[in-house]
Amino acid sequence: SADAALFRAKENGRNNFQFFTQQLHDKAKQVLEIENELRQALVRGELSLYYQPQVDVDSHEIIGAEALIRWHHPNKGLVPPDKFIPIAEESGLIGEIGDWVLHEAVRQSANWKANGLCIVPVAVNISAAQFRLDALYRKVVGILRNYKLDPAMLELEITEGVAMESSERTIAMLEQLSALGVKLSIDDFGTGYSSLNYLKRYKIDKLKIDQSFIRDLCRDSEDEGIVIAIIGMARSLGFKTIAEGVETRDQLEFLKRKQCDEIQGYLFSKPVPADEFAELLRAGKIELGGLGIEILGNE
Ligand code: C2E
Ligand code: MG
Ligand code: MG
Ligand code: MG
Repeated sequence: SADAALFRAKENGRNNFQFFTQQLHDKAKQVLEIENELRQALVRGELSLYYQPQVDVDSHEIIGAEALIRWHHPNKGLVPPDKFIPIAEESGLIGEIGDWVLHEAVRQSANWKANGLCIVPVAVNISAAQFRLDALYRKVVGILRNYKLDPAMLELEITEGVAMESSERTIAMLEQLSALGVKLSIDDFGTGYSSLNYLKRYKIDKLKIDQSFIRDLCRDSEDEGIVIAIIGMARSLGFKTIAEGVETRDQLEFLKRKQCDEIQGYLFSKPVPADEFAELLRAGKIELGGLGIEILGNE
């Protein structure tokens, strides 16, 4: 593939590009451009975290948040993570970016707490490359100590694919992190291939039901069946469930009836900058159709 070829080329030294077709060359150039810009973005402070509230399905109280990275590019404007996280993963820059994200989320939570806010666990996305590194545990310990944050106020999200990749090692990693007191969740659940045998041995708190199953709730009975099955299985295994990408009241009502625990989605709020999230925290809950929806507005 183009990517594999690019990586071989990078390993052989950047001069080897002359052997490539123009198309491959262009793609490689584009990737390198983003990679270089991304390296500078870190130094220039162009990255920030937005926070999306997670609410209790019944009370609509804010019970958590997911930290989502944003890149404020000087000319391109806001670049979504899907456009640069994969490149960061391939180039190895994800190490530095991942460290920055962990630091920033923990720093921000400690800061909210210092300002008297009643904080909630903040979930950070851990990339495949980050999870493969043995340094992750040590880093998490160091960062929590540094900011004196209660480990229970940090949650780590790993995707189903990453969790199943190297299962015995994952069991050990999750046990270690869970013993520390941080919360653990499986992201985009339902899109990978879970071995239920491993899943039951994973020390995790929550399954995040992927938004692809939520989108057509109340229209597609197959998706409804899948969501009901995930909620039932999670309950049997002692995991909580959170539905991602909830945009309508009908979806909310369905999830409530089926006893999904928590909701994350535009219905309650888009991801918002830290200062706006602090306002939401101050309010403590989000009233549907009330002030909540207005604050959410533009990203
Ligand atoms: P994810 O972890 O599954 O995050 C949820 C995504 O769904 C976010 O997109 C969020 O804005 C979006 N979302 C939430 N509610 C709704 C909704 O009601 N409707 C719709 N249409 N979308 C909704 P975002 O922020 O663009 O992030 C995309 C992906 O990029 C994330 O998926 C995650 O895989 C990755 N990502 C984001 N931040 C980080 C990070 O700090 N580190 C790493 N490694 N990956 C990150
Ligand atoms: Mg996530
Ligand atoms: Mg997800
Ligand atoms: Mg995703």
